Amino acid sequence: MTPGICRVCGCTDNNACPEGCSWADSTYTLCTNPICLRVARRTKRLLGAAMNVLKYYRRGPGSDCNTVPYRALERLARAVAKGGAA
Ligand SMILES: [Zn+2]
Ligand SMILES: [Zn+2]
Repeated sequence: MTPGICRVCGCTDNNACPEGCSWADSTYTLCTNPICLRVARRTKRLLGAAMNVLKYYRRGPGSDCNTVPYRALERLARAVAKGGAA
């Protein structure tokens, strides 16, 4: 991510969205375009779900595949599917 360039739409200070936008975060990598905000929210949710799964697997030796967090995996799969469809 480059500061000064929206990570979703690629707009910059000199080339803002047609509707007009400003920076939505302190690192200047996300603008206030509703589409960008929505994509960013979805990405955050995806990351959260992925991190839950990772956290589980990072518990290391002794992990039992019978206790895999299916809920988390399901949520992740659903979120990915939704992201692909949108
Ligand atoms: Zn943007
Ligand atoms: Zn923008």
